[in-house]
Amino acid sequence: MKIDFATWPDGTTVTDFAETAESLELSSDMNRFDDDVNVTVTVHKTEDEAIVEGRLAARARSTCVRCLEEFDVAIEEDFRRIGKLVPAVNVGEDTGDPDYLFLPANEPVWDLNTVVREIILLAIPENPVCTEDCRGLCPKCGENLNLKECGCEQPKSDSPLAKLKDILAQKTKP
Ligand SMILES: [Zn+2]
Ligand SMILES: [Zn+2]
Repeated sequence: MKIDFATWPDGTTVTDFAETAESLELSSDMNRFDDDVNVTVTVHKTEDEAIVEGRLAARARSTCVRCLEEFDVAIEEDFRRIGKLVPAVNVGEDTGDPDYLFLPANEPVWDLNTVVREIILLAIPENPVCTEDCRGLCPKCGENLNLKECGCEQPKSDSPLAKLKDILAQKTKP
């Protein structure tokens, strides 16, 4: 969705919109988005500034990095952004606040999809795991250890817990 400063009414407006994952370019190898992303925004607008307070909801189909099974990740995020029209030469200047954006006054259209996309990409886990205690795949035979014990002998030092213990042991060394 876009806020066109030329036509968007001044004052407070509440609106809902839905965007497809394709239009937001969300899908990656580890996360697939089958549903639309739903967004509700309250826009407080003046001639040269818009304050957007919103809430977005999305659902990612993620692949667990340990067991490679797919699972759902629900994303719900509140956000607030301020867009201010400034002369085009000033657009690149640092506002000092990542939530405060300069927009070119000669092209006064604010594409909120870029905001929504950024928030979702920050919200999805970089290394998704289906559950905290997912046991992953057997490194020897590939069996999903959440479903079945394969009986292979597991090298002890390969388990994430053992690695953590090693790290902790190193840290506590004098
Ligand atoms: Zn898993
Ligand atoms: Zn095995």
